[in-house]
Amino acid sequence: MTRNLRRALPLTTLLISLSPFCWSQSSLHPESWGKLDGKDVSLYTLKNSSGMEVKITNYGGTITYISVPDRQKKFGNVALGFDSLAGYRDKVNTGYFGATIGRYANRIGHGTFTLDGHAYHIPTNEGVNTLHGGTKGFDKVVWDAKDVSKAHAPALELHYLSPDGEQGFPGNLNATVRFMLTEKNELRIDYRATTDKDTVLNLTNHSYFNLSGPASGTILDDQLMIAADKYTPVDKGLIPTGALDAVAGTPFDFQKLTAIGSRIKDNNSQLKIANGYDQNFVLTHPGLSTVAVKVVDPKSGRVMELFTDQPGVQFYTGNFLNGTVHGVGGTYNFRSALALETQHFPDSPNHSNFPSAELKAGQEFHSTTIYHFSTE
Ligand code: BGC
Repeated sequence: MTRNLRRALPLTTLLISLSPFCWSQSSLHPESWGKLDGKDVSLYTLKNSSGMEVKITNYGGTITYISVPDRQKKFGNVALGFDSLAGYRDKVNTGYFGATIGRYANRIGHGTFTLDGHAYHIPTNEGVNTLHGGTKGFDKVVWDAKDVSKAHAPALELHYLSPDGEQGFPGNLNATVRFMLTEKNELRIDYRATTDKDTVLNLTNHSYFNLSGPASGTILDDQLMIAADKYTPVDKGLIPTGALDAVAGTPFDFQKLTAIGSRIKDNNSQLKIANGYDQNFVLTHPGLSTVAVKVVDPKSGRVMELFTDQPGVQFYTGNFLNGTVHGVGGTYNFRSALALETQHFPDSPNHSNFPSAELKAGQEFHSTTIYHFSTE
């Protein structure tokens, strides 16, 4: 053994013994947001080498902040949200800003469905209907968090075990949501779940976007493309009627880039019911190799493209935002943001002609949605 090597050995031993400690340190720089339900709540930051940043809290599996460059290469946040746990707690039930939605995204008519011959009842929280999983959905629970980052791919994995019967849904449901930021300015969300009893499941993320920044004006001048040739019209309670209507010749045709505001005031009964857009679009070719949705903000030059393997996407123009919520960036006014929630169709458990949202005992649910940011 040479003298140099002998000298280096104690240092090497020290490094090796310290390394498990180093590896267990999160590269996501968790910032404590306090405690809730006896669990730690933190804010995690995913950052890639070009500077894109996404912040997520394990309270509700919530995306609080997405910073991407504009056409002048200036970074800015494009997601509505709050900068503390109190902000989200105060907004209980109002906006679902950035949250993971489960067990059933969007509505279940009369809070009831039948599965394997058994009628299940979910707490109603919007008149006679259930919205976004009931009175305490996945947006209001504290998830367990794990840093699963790889080289050049910061990633956060959240896990929640929803016990059998929670909010009336059958089966112990093990749900995992993994958020990963790539070097291509993509935020990739992978949802996985298993159950020990047949159940229904519809998971999504409820981020509101304004590509010029939260509280920077309306989204009506944004250009939108949704690769959907049909949509599911709704009744007055925003529950699908069961019809799959063609978008051609209606204000719901976004198959080519079209300004969001160009037809929003048309004399159309669906737009009137929802006071804007708040319908599920039936994707013509779901899958991760086709752009499902594209939003272009002419002001900032920012572009967002969505890819998903889910059959539908809820396009919502912030019709319930009314200036009473003050979040990061300022006041959230009517139509100052849009939400694009990739999903199974609303109320699918009550419509046998819709793609099934059933998850069988022992099966694994896996779904992916990618948000890609660029400029033009
Ligand atoms: C629904 C809207 C609802 C919004 C916020 C959307 O998914 O379709 O009707 O107001 O979520 O809860």
